Amino acid sequence: MERENIIELKSVTKSFSDNGFVAVKDFNLEVKRGEFVTFLGPSGCGKTTTLRMIAGFEMPTSGEILLNGKPIQNLPPYERPINTVFQRYALFPHMNIFDNIAFGLRQKKTPKDEITKKVKKVLSLVDLEGFEERRVSTLSGGQQQRIAIARALVNEPEILLLDEPLGALDLKMRQEMQLELKEMHDRLGITFIYVTHDQEEALTMSDKIVVMSEGRIQQIGTPEDIYNEPKNAFVADFIGESNIFSGIMTGKKKVRFCGGEFDCVDDVPEGTHITAVVRPEDVRLTPPSEGMITGEVTSVIFKGIHYEIAVQSGKNEMEVKSIQAPKIGEKVGMSVDPDGIHIMIAEDHTNRFLVDINSDYRLEYNGKLLHASLTKLIRGGKRLDDGTIVDENGDTLDLAKTKIEASIQPQDIDMTDDAEEGLVEGNISNLIYQGDHYSYVIHTDLGQDFVVYDEDLWNMGDRVGLVMPTEKMSFALKKQGR
Ligand code: ADP
Ligand code: MG
Repeated sequence: MERENIIELKSVTKSFSDNGFVAVKDFNLEVKRGEFVTFLGPSGCGKTTTLRMIAGFEMPTSGEILLNGKPIQNLPPYERPINTVFQRYALFPHMNIFDNIAFGLRQKKTPKDEITKKVKKVLSLVDLEGFEERRVSTLSGGQQQRIAIARALVNEPEILLLDEPLGALDLKMRQEMQLELKEMHDRLGITFIYVTHDQEEALTMSDKIVVMSEGRIQQIGTPEDIYNEPKNAFVADFIGESNIFSGIMTGKKKVRFCGGEFDCVDDVPEGTHITAVVRPEDVRLTPPSEGMITGEVTSVIFKGIHYEIAVQSGKNEMEVKSIQAPKIGEKVGMSVDPDGIHIMIAEDHTNRFLVDINSDYRLEYNGKLLHASLTKLIRGGKRLDDGTIVDENGDTLDLAKTKIEASIQPQDIDMTDDAEEGLVEGNISNLIYQGDHYSYVIHTDLGQDFVVYDEDLWNMGDRVGLVMPTEKMSFALKKQGR
C-alpha cells in the first residue's frame, strides 16, 4: 500500500558544529506524494540546509526524516530516490549534452543502449530533442537549466529537489521556465520540493508553501492561505506588499489603527494590541469627506495596469493600488471594507512611527529635534558644510521621498503627568494588567497610538506626556518607490 506522505520531517534541527549556529530549528513538515512544495524565505533562513538534509548531504543534529514512513537519516545521498537541481547548473563545460546527462548513469554502470534511450527520453521531456551533440557553451541560460533538470530526471527520482534553479535567469526567461517547470511537474507526477526567495515564484508554482524565517517555519499553507490569511506580520510582509500597522481593538469587531477606527471581521477582545494588515488593493480612494481616514498623496507610480500610490496619513503611510491616478499633494480619503482588514494578535509591541526631516536635514518628531544621525541612515551619506546631506551618488537628499521610521520598545517610554515634558502628549485610552506591569495605550494628539509598559497604575483618560529618549530609538530608512 502506498503511503500518502512521501517525505516527513519530524522536529528536525541542524546546528553547525564549527560555530554552533542553529540553521534549522524544530522543522516539522509532511510532503504528499506528487505534491509541489516550496520553501520560501529570505536568504540565510535555512532553505538550502533543509534541502541538503533531505538529499542526504547534511545530517540533522536531531529529529527524523522519513521516506515512505521509514527513517533515512543514515542513508547516503546515492541510496535515496532523490535528485537535486542546484542554483548553479554545474554542467561540465568540456562535455557535450549527451555526456553531461549520461554521467550519473555511466557511474552506475548502466548498459550503453539503455543510457542512449534514457537520455533521448529526458531530452524530449525538457523539450530539447536532438541536442545530444551540442556543447554546453552554445546553449542559452534557460536551455542549460533544462539540461540540468534532464540530468536529474534521468535517474528517475521519486523526488526532485530544486534549489533556486531559476536564480541566474532574467525575469522573462524565469517566468517562462516557471510555467514549464510547473507543466513538467504535472506531467511527470513526481514530487517537487522547490526553494526560492521570490514570493511571486512561490505563489505561481506551488501546491503548498512553507514560509521560513531564521530557521523556523512561520506558516505552511496553500498560496491562497498564505496570501489571504498570513499568520503573522513576517509572512504578511514577505508575501506581497502589505500595509502593516500596530493598533488596538476598540470594541466588538472594531479596531483602531492608522489614525482611524474601522469595522473588521475578526472578533478579538476589546483592548487587545493587534497588528492590522491591509493589502494595497483593498484600499479604496474616495473624496476626503467620504473616507474613513484622510491623507495626502506623496507618490504615484504607474505599474502598467494600475498605479501604486503612497498616501501620508498623519504619522502613517498607506500604500494603495488603484486604477485612478491622483495627483501628488492631493488630499484624498481612504476606505477599507471589513474583510480587507486582517487582524493578528501582536506578539511584538514595538512602537513604529515616521519622523520628520527638517529643512536643516535633522530628524524631528512633533516639531522637536531628535539627537540622531540622519547621515548614517543614508547609504554613503555625507553632510556638506552647508548642512545638506548627499547620498552615495553625490545627489542631495530628496526630502519629499525620504521616509525615516523610528521604533521604540514599550518599556523604554516613560509617562509623565507634566504632559508638555514629553516628546508627544496624549490620553490613556486603554490599560491591561500584565502580571508585573500595566500595558497602556496612549492615543496621542498626532493620531498615533503608543504602547507603554509601566509599573504604576494610571487611570483611563489621564493626560500624559511620553518621554522617549532618542538613544532608546532605532531609526531606519523606509524603502521608497521610484
Ligand atoms: P538559505 O538557503 O535559506 O539562504 P542556508 O540554509 O544556506 O540558507 O543557510 C542558513 C544559515 O546557516 C546561514 O546563516 C548560513 O550562514 C548557515 N550555514 C549554512 N551552511 C553552513 C555551514 N556548513 N557551516 C556553518 N554555517 C552554515
Ligand atoms: Mg540557499
